Amino acid sequence: MSLKREIVTIDGPSGVGKSTISRQVARALSFTYLDTGAMYRAVGFQLQEEEVDFTDEAALEKSLQMIVLDLLPAVEEEDDVGVFVNGRDVSKVIRSPEMSMMASRVSALSPVRKKLTHMQQAIGAKGKIVAEGRDTGTVVFPNAAWKFYLDAAPEVRMQRRADQLRSQDKKVDEEELLQMIIKRDNDDQSRTIAPLCKASDAHTIDTGALTIDGVTAAILRVIQENSI
Ligand code: C5P
Repeated sequence: MSLKREIVTIDGPSGVGKSTISRQVARALSFTYLDTGAMYRAVGFQLQEEEVDFTDEAALEKSLQMIVLDLLPAVEEEDDVGVFVNGRDVSKVIRSPEMSMMASRVSALSPVRKKLTHMQQAIGAKGKIVAEGRDTGTVVFPNAAWKFYLDAAPEVRMQRRADQLRSQDKKVDEEELLQMIIKRDNDDQSRTIAPLCKASDAHTIDTGALTIDGVTAAILRVIQENSI
């Protein structure tokens, strides 16, 4: 068994509260927060901008080679991380429901996963990070010391996402949002490379039954009780 690394992974489907919880956990531990979903969103945004044909492997590889991603820590704890793609600030535009679907589409492409997995591993090379995503405990950081899998019913997650979008003054169609969440879950779980699934050594937490602060506290307790 290889050595455990000082890394927390928090995986699970969309809308379980992963981002807020991951940020809180990172802050409590003074670790860096790594939002891997933002990276898939940024790549999805750029490939869409360039109208890249995903079935054209050469064109896809060429575009990916040119993509430079920069991640900046959020200004306020509740803000999303800053994301720049090829120097352009896409932090806000990548947060739309349409870009969520786009991220999900490009995340099934092997060259995209390869590039982002390497980048994530480089960012986590020194440890002390809280990585949030779909495959951070299974593929990106299999040796992470503390792995969590957050889950909740699709309806609960839809309601949370709707509240979040409304708080940003965005229009919300709840039925459409629910269908998007179910489709994205299915796509993320059924893709052949790095599908969304629980690592065998991850702690599962149902976030539907707890407050965000309650989930964060539960995670911190597990970490304290299992120091490396
Ligand atoms: O977490 P977030 O909703 O920002 O992720 C957007 C999409 O990016 C997910 O639906 C998923 O398809 C993809 N993703 C992934 N692997 C990760 C993080 C995100 O495939 N580690």
